[in-house]
Amino acid sequence: MHSSKLNWTNVIFFGVTHALGLIGAPLYIYFYGISWGEIILFLFYFSVTGLGITVGYHRLFAHRTYKAGKWVTFLNLFFGAAAFEKSAIDWASHHREHHRYVDSDKDPYSINKGFFFAHMGWMLFWKAPPTYPNVKDLQSNPLIQHQDRYYLAWVIVSSILLPVLIGTLMGHGLGTFLIAVCARIALVYQGTWCINSVAHTFGKKPYDLTGSARDNWFAALFTWGEGYHNFHHRFPNDYRNGVQWYQWDPSKWMIAFFRALHLTSDLKKTSKFKILNAKIAAQNSQATLYLNTFKNWSESLHIAELINTKYAHVTSLLQKWEQQHTTQKSLRFARARTRLLKKQFRSAYREWAKLQTCFTYLPKVAPLLS
Ligand SMILES: [Zn+2]
Ligand SMILES: [Zn+2]
Repeated sequence: MHSSKLNWTNVIFFGVTHALGLIGAPLYIYFYGISWGEIILFLFYFSVTGLGITVGYHRLFAHRTYKAGKWVTFLNLFFGAAAFEKSAIDWASHHREHHRYVDSDKDPYSINKGFFFAHMGWMLFWKAPPTYPNVKDLQSNPLIQHQDRYYLAWVIVSSILLPVLIGTLMGHGLGTFLIAVCARIALVYQGTWCINSVAHTFGKKPYDLTGSARDNWFAALFTWGEGYHNFHHRFPNDYRNGVQWYQWDPSKWMIAFFRALHLTSDLKKTSKFKILNAKIAAQNSQATLYLNTFKNWSESLHIAELINTKYAHVTSLLQKWEQQHTTQKSLRFARARTRLLKKQFRSAYREWAKLQTCFTYLPKVAPLLS
């Protein structure tokens, strides 16, 4: 159907890396076994190239969620290149278009064109040229520009020559090529692509109901925390994707670890008030949507009123708490008032949350009541 637009370079490259990595590497291991050196090289390269994409290409270059010194910038460019996902400038350009036009025709990997298209089809069927005016900030950096201009040299050295050289010195050149190069490239590809397909199809929408992006904890497990995609689309400038402390997001921990070493700075964080506000607004929209499906139910009008009242109450308390917190935190009595407002908000939020729990049962209960 899209054959006239097939990008043969990508078709052949993806085909060869996947065949060698996912069929060739297991066959090699079956016949020749695997050494500790090959395992360590695979794990190291799988980790640093994956993190090069998430910590570097995504959160540093595409979204500028923190500032990095020269070493961190270089390492992100070096290992990001090794993932074979084009230069940081090309990647960021596509990704900024994705955020700007998400789910529309202009979204380079729109989920509305199908799961496979969003996953990898967009690179096979459609030669989407990057929109360079949207990456002028990156083009002004000589190191980033160098990686873009001499990308082929960067990728051959970082992705193939270096690991194969180390593998050859250990006496396992072919095994390293199949396992730490081909299998690793194919697996990191699949992880990255899952964010555009899986995390735009399966999961929850706690912060924003309008777009297709979803929080998917399972996808986060093998994408270095990128699975919390609903939060990310709602707050793309935040250096965290998994915003809760317990959410699996090694990329945010890595960025914070670099800050402790004074290698990164200015980590952008969305205020807890904005996050709570988005969460409550999304819950309110969800409750209204549930209720709209049961318009004929005699109680629906009464419940809609109850939602409106509770929503107004909980958001006004949140607003008061925020105002108090941001304006008068230095005075002792003001701090006490902040604590009081926080307590009042929490109690109102608990009530609100209970109401939400009721709504999850509404589709089952309402028909019985109507
Ligand atoms: Zn997305
Ligand atoms: Zn993004």
